[in-house]
Amino acid sequence: MEGQRFVTGDSKRIFVNTALGCNSSCSYCYLPAEGYRTGVPPEVNISLEAAINLIRSSGLYVQGRYGTIISIGCFSECWDSSNLQKTKGIISWALKNGNPVQMATKRVVFPNQVKDHCELIQWKGQYSIFLSSATISQWKEFERGTSNPFKRFYHIGDLISLGVVCYIYIKPVIEGVTLKDGLIYSDIANEKGCGVVIGSRFDDSVSDGVPAPIDSVSGLRMVASNEEDQLAEIFPPTIPVYWSSVDAINSWR
Ligand code: SF4
Repeated sequence: MEGQRFVTGDSKRIFVNTALGCNSSCSYCYLPAEGYRTGVPPEVNISLEAAINLIRSSGLYVQGRYGTIISIGCFSECWDSSNLQKTKGIISWALKNGNPVQMATKRVVFPNQVKDHCELIQWKGQYSIFLSSATISQWKEFERGTSNPFKRFYHIGDLISLGVVCYIYIKPVIEGVTLKDGLIYSDIANEKGCGVVIGSRFDDSVSDGVPAPIDSVSGLRMVASNEEDQLAEIFPPTIPVYWSSVDAINSWR
């Protein structure tokens, strides 16, 4: 287990992965650059108990609303059937401790899957789900093995009713691709009453730019698309647009 990056980050934000690797194979995914396989079930896993022990013993964890943000799944798909139960366990643990907890996924999150741990929410905005998507119309081409984006977004209204804060997480903005679906994203956000986060691509082939906000062995940097600003302008002022998931979380505390 030593040397594996199941728990990384700092006192402001800890990333937790109970698996390293992903069953899906998005064309823009940075996992291969980080040494993890995509398109096959993750080979490296830890238990829920081990993950929580790693958080507790990291020396980074600060309990409570203004403590550490618990971010689930930067080196895995946290809602894959293989690690979904562990992800739910981490969410419950963080909610009980009062910490903000976020998960990003390209899978469908059904309301009955989160109903139990929603009862543990202590303050509005504590639990947020970022439904990730870089394209709707070209999903099959760019996001192989993920859920149909319309199905990903379908339950947002019901999840919000349960107390979860949901965002459409448009990341990365792929030039010539993502912007084409801007009006569809806007209509969905409008209909569901949720905010939007727009994010940049993580790339290991560039040497300038801002380092990616995750623990990277390949030197990932954030590469912004020229089309990010144009995409943001499509959303009406009634839809909050953020440039990072942490900004979205911090708006609640
Ligand atoms: S779902 Fe996420 S982790 Fe899995 S291949 Fe796609 S971008 Fe990578």
